[in-house]
Amino acid sequence: MDPRERDRSKKKQFRKKFLFRKKKFCKFCEEKIPYIDYKDVRLLQGFTPERGKIFPRRISGTCAKHQRELMQAIKRARNIALLPFTAD
Ligand SMILES: [Zn+2]
Repeated sequence: MDPRERDRSKKKQFRKKFLFRKKKFCKFCEEKIPYIDYKDVRLLQGFTPERGKIFPRRISGTCAKHQRELMQAIKRARNIALLPFTAD
């Protein structure tokens, strides 16, 4: 098998595991949230699955604009210790 082909199929498998959030729309656009509140920890936690990661856009379905705001909100929340840097 072409090594590149193999690499691609590996990536596909990896992606499948994380596809439990099958949203194609942006949650924030849909709910017409103009500003992501960094104090809304429960909302932010939905986008940080583990170890301080942030869900990539293609999985969470968040649009570019809101993804950027979301990342800022998460960073801010971490800085004031609302969210853990690592969730062990
Ligand atoms: Zn959006």
